[in-house]
Amino acid sequence: MEDNSYYLVCLMEECAEVSQVVAKSLRFGIDDSHPKTGDIPNHELLSRECGDILGVIDCLLDMRVINEDILMQYRTRKPDRIKKYKEMYNG
Ligand SMILES: [Mg+2]
Repeated sequence: MEDNSYYLVCLMEECAEVSQVVAKSLRFGIDDSHPKTGDIPNHELLSRECGDILGVIDCLLDMRVINEDILMQYRTRKPDRIKKYKEMYNG
């Protein structure tokens, strides 16, 4: 199998970048931006970083590191599962 560690590290980095933007969004607000550099609101940064993740996933799909059938199965079922647990949690 081809060495895929470079792409896996890229995925890990992009996931960390999403985590950071989500943390900033929860701490300061989704519409807020960084006070010093801040012309880009957190919601746009989140969109950008999610796009980066999808781009890396495309690479991993091309390399057949990620199985597209399994990915789509889980992607399709996730929204209902999130809503179900949200309802259970919030009552
Ligand atoms: Mg990124």
